Amino acid sequence: MYNPKSLKAEEFISHQEILDTLEYASANKHNIRLIDEILAKARERKGLNHREAAVLLDCDIPEKVEEIYSLAREIKNEFYGNRIVLFAPLYLSNYCVNGCVYCPYHAKNKHIKRKKLSQEEIVKEVIALQDMGHKRLAIETGEDPTNCPIEYVLESINTIYSIKHKNGAIRRVNVNIAATTVENYRKLKEAGIGTYVLFQETYHKESYEKLHPTGPKHNYAYHTEAMDRAMQGGIDDVGLGVLFGLENYRYEFTGLLMHAEHLEAVYGVGPHTISVPRVKKADDIDPNQFDNGIDDDTFAKIVACIRVAVPYTGMIISTRESAKCRERLLNLGVSQISGGSKTSVGGYYEPEPEEENSAQFEVSDNRTLDEVVNWLMGLGFIPSFCTACYREGRTGDRFMTLCKNGQIQNCCHPNALMTLKEYLMDYASEKTRKTGEALIAKEINNIPKEKVRKLVAERLKLIEQGSRDFRL
Ligand code: SAM
Repeated sequence: MYNPKSLKAEEFISHQEILDTLEYASANKHNIRLIDEILAKARERKGLNHREAAVLLDCDIPEKVEEIYSLAREIKNEFYGNRIVLFAPLYLSNYCVNGCVYCPYHAKNKHIKRKKLSQEEIVKEVIALQDMGHKRLAIETGEDPTNCPIEYVLESINTIYSIKHKNGAIRRVNVNIAATTVENYRKLKEAGIGTYVLFQETYHKESYEKLHPTGPKHNYAYHTEAMDRAMQGGIDDVGLGVLFGLENYRYEFTGLLMHAEHLEAVYGVGPHTISVPRVKKADDIDPNQFDNGIDDDTFAKIVACIRVAVPYTGMIISTRESAKCRERLLNLGVSQISGGSKTSVGGYYEPEPEEENSAQFEVSDNRTLDEVVNWLMGLGFIPSFCTACYREGRTGDRFMTLCKNGQIQNCCHPNALMTLKEYLMDYASEKTRKTGEALIAKEINNIPKEKVRKLVAERLKLIEQGSRDFRL
């Protein structure tokens, strides 16, 4: 029944294979010989399959867990260096016809304020985001074919890309909207989106159907096969994720990796990113109503095991998590974070009035983007506003091939420095600017090729003189 190459959800995410995997992991969680073999394979940077990774996740031998963490740190450092890419979500509409029991946008919620941004409002929001320094957005909507049809999403993407305010620009729009048709994915691709992101929420079919009792999202197969349709529509950068807390985390972890293996098996390219959201308090949602909440230690272990299992896949952590939690995960594998986020429809241009709450969930990290940038640098990271890869056509298997050859490093580090420089010139506070200038002066010496080092030094000067948007 289990077949990673199948296009049927229940065959590439086989329930029986997940149960067998969990049994195998549990039986082997103290099998030191096997664990050492798995760790040795992971050290070769070739990734792990879901069975191997599940054994690591289950293993609770302190020295082995420490080895997993240190390997995750090593791999993180090798593939992503000390760069952290920054983005912000932009909620366009919270109209929704679904009944997701964990989400306050569910159709039965009659007291949450329903909003949809007009194109004029989008312009204001995007200018506010540009004025913070953002270059990369993730647009978010509820599912509502009448109030929020694909034409509205496409028009909004067009609006977002067209706004050039002072030195600002949104250079990459990622899209997190409900599962849709191949034809609509094709339209999104043509509109120039970066990654198509869709969280599975849970891979457990029976729970999925209970958690999505009504609306089009109830259809497990249609939702689970969405990434296949996205790929068939020409989108080769897709982002997976599960909403931790809804189901048993071991089940979700295994399903997530099986989904990644499926994409690799069928399309020759794994997921571009994996997101690891946890259920949060929201308007009429109490996260404690779900039985599968995970503590911070388990969460960190999941992140480390994902890092080790799929080294080429970026990992995203949002402002659902506190600064303290994010700090720990940055070292274990996370490569992208949001900053200065609002989860309401509107709210960047001017704060939403209290009586008008339209937010999807409560944010735990409320710092400004400048504070986040400064904090990252204090921790030894390079905040990056880079969007070069997809603009240079480095997507899908092209991106993965470069990544696997280690070639991506030659572009990412210089691009991070050049985009950070732009941020410092245009948006940073005095304190952040000083810290950033010192960081760039130090980091430029870490560019191995002299020719590239010289080129970057020249371009940094040109940025000081007013030029923008250099990329390798
Ligand atoms: N409506 C789209 C769909 O059908 O997949 C996705 C966009 S939704 C705005 C973004 C994500 O927020 C959801 O996929 C879900 O995982 C997450 N989310 C919903 N309620 C949440 C909550 N209470 N806490 C944390 N995350 C939540």
